[in-house]
Amino acid sequence: MLAYIGLGSNLENPRAQVEQAFFELSTLASSQLLKRSPLYGSTAVGPGEQPDYVNAVALLETDLQPLELLDALQAIEQSHRRVRIEHWGPRTLDLDILLLDDRCIDSERLKVPHPYLTQRNFVLYPLVDIAPDLNLPNGESLQELISSCPQDGLARLE
Ligand code: ATP
Ligand code: CA
Ligand code: CA
Repeated sequence: MLAYIGLGSNLENPRAQVEQAFFELSTLASSQLLKRSPLYGSTAVGPGEQPDYVNAVALLETDLQPLELLDALQAIEQSHRRVRIEHWGPRTLDLDILLLDDRCIDSERLKVPHPYLTQRNFVLYPLVDIAPDLNLPNGESLQELISSCPQDGLARLE
């Protein structure tokens, strides 16, 4: 199964958090890290004032089941001492499952494609970098989505 994972951090040296997360993804059981996008800086959305984010996207090939993958990603988040204080609040590391092949999953713990995938420039831009020809399960092309998603607040990091 091909899995696109969104990475984000806005606390405690976000760039290093994301680099470390790429490394951890590369050591994930029954999985291979196939691609990693460039890093992007983005302005935080959510409650109150928050530091800027570093975002990126990874492509994994994995033999894990979807919920096993979610468990593994949440274990990595925990290892970054992520504390959930408030929804959409600042965090050391956020790992979201964006896409799993052409699957659609709508369960309590896991929704795929990720519900906000199509609205977030910090997801769409790095995704297009590593998967320019990708379509969503409903047939929408990333190229179309990105053409109606302004790059506001988003900058590719060197
Ligand atoms: P957002 O969904 O807006 O990106 P968030 O990433 O801040 O919000 P979290 O607090 O990280 O939300 O996660 C809340 C819960 O979302 C998780 O415990 C997980 O069970 C659930 N969840 C549902 N779909 C997904 C998905 N595709 N990837 C990761 N978590 C998911
Ligand atoms: Ca998220
Ligand atoms: Ca999340």
